[in-house]
Amino acid sequence: MKLCMVGTGYVGLVSGACFAETGNDVVCADIDAAKVERLSKGEIPIFEPGLAEMVARNVAEKRLGFSADVPAAIAASEAVMVAVGTPSRSDGAADLQAVDRVAETVARSVTRDTVLVLKSTVPVGTNARVRRIVKDAPHRVHVVSNPEFLKEGNAIDDFMRPDRILVGCDGDDELARDVMTRLYHPVTLSSDRIIFMDPASAELSKYVANTMLAMRISFMNEIAALCEKVGADIHLVRKGVGSDERIGSKFLYAGPGYGGSCFPKDIVGLAHTAREMGVELELANATDRVNQRQKGVLLRKLKQVHFEGDLRGKRIAVWGLAFKPRTDDVRESPALQLIDALVSEGAEVRAHDPEAMDNVRAIYGSRITLCEDAYDAAKDADALVLVTEWRQYQNPDFARLLQLMRRPLLLDGRNIWSGYGLRKQGFTYDGIGVRGS
Ligand code: NAD
Repeated sequence: MKLCMVGTGYVGLVSGACFAETGNDVVCADIDAAKVERLSKGEIPIFEPGLAEMVARNVAEKRLGFSADVPAAIAASEAVMVAVGTPSRSDGAADLQAVDRVAETVARSVTRDTVLVLKSTVPVGTNARVRRIVKDAPHRVHVVSNPEFLKEGNAIDDFMRPDRILVGCDGDDELARDVMTRLYHPVTLSSDRIIFMDPASAELSKYVANTMLAMRISFMNEIAALCEKVGADIHLVRKGVGSDERIGSKFLYAGPGYGGSCFPKDIVGLAHTAREMGVELELANATDRVNQRQKGVLLRKLKQVHFEGDLRGKRIAVWGLAFKPRTDDVRESPALQLIDALVSEGAEVRAHDPEAMDNVRAIYGSRITLCEDAYDAAKDADALVLVTEWRQYQNPDFARLLQLMRRPLLLDGRNIWSGYGLRKQGFTYDGIGVRGS
């Protein structure tokens, strides 16, 4: 099928490459001409495991191309997917300017009856709004809501082996149902994972899923704080609770608060939509409030527990800058909030991340030191803070760290290290919801 993916970011590039991999002719179109030029030269602007190889293979086999001419790419396609950003506005609502703009371009550019698929996360009612924009197009535009559930760091596997695919369209829209079934058939061969529903339900499902996952994290972060007060261990509480089949073990990890480009904006986005409808979503509001507080937990521990309220002149090493492992995405990363606070408290920050340092350098310039080698970041440090649990941080050479650091303080924001063993080695160890030193 001839497919145009509009918006070539984390979602659009992965999805576009995966649709090409499954035999479609895909053009990834973006208004960012510099990004398109890099892609056309074979450079992949983001880090996502397996993506570079998949893009190269499909470009070589002529199923995947890139274009900054969005109208032309739309005109040549049977289906158009929208994967543009929908960031938060200051009032919490999703900013739909990019979606509107694409819809307007579609209305002007289609050359045949076309299926327009909304992959971006958009508030309930957006499908109807887009239908109004395209209603006077010269050909019929069938608007479908197909929210994306892939996770950065595991995006290709998520696409190829989805838990489910939600398709929100009119029950009698044969063309839309046929196109969506054909597009997703290769990844749903072994099981019937396409769930058809009305557009509003599909739009809402995405927000509800993200809010429910975020809610689990915020709840465990609150319980972690309680653990510290009562001498319990959040690891054990998680095991004790997650082993209940009704609850399950995923998304129960305490940490420095959730980040990324989705959870923070989607939770407030859902609350905003509800408020506009006269419904106050207390749990969503609390989830966001708890998370905002949690994002200050590492600073509070450093400053109040370990440095008697004064971080001036302290050299703090930070390991892990991306909002989670296996991505270079630093949007809303807890590490950035920590670094901002450390810098304004007068501390010296030396940081390392396996993939995200270019993105961090673009934000901080020379205000912090980015080290190519993780141990270099810890040299003469007064504390080492682990913020993102990349695999290579799981089992570092602690004896070397002990030698390198000025003060052997480890603040483990993801509870990946063993406090017991580290204390025996001579470190001061602190985590989230586990017994401190
Ligand atoms: P992104 O910022 O990485 O990419 C968006 C791309 O859209 C950019 O390349 C931008 O240049 C392009 N763009 C903006 N306006 C455009 C226009 N008018 N025409 C053409 N291109 C335009 O965003 P992302 O992380 O890929 O997220 C995209 C959407 O998918 C968002 O709604 C997000 O909430 C949702 N989503 C993201 C993830 C994720 O893990 N990143 C997962 C599921 C859903």
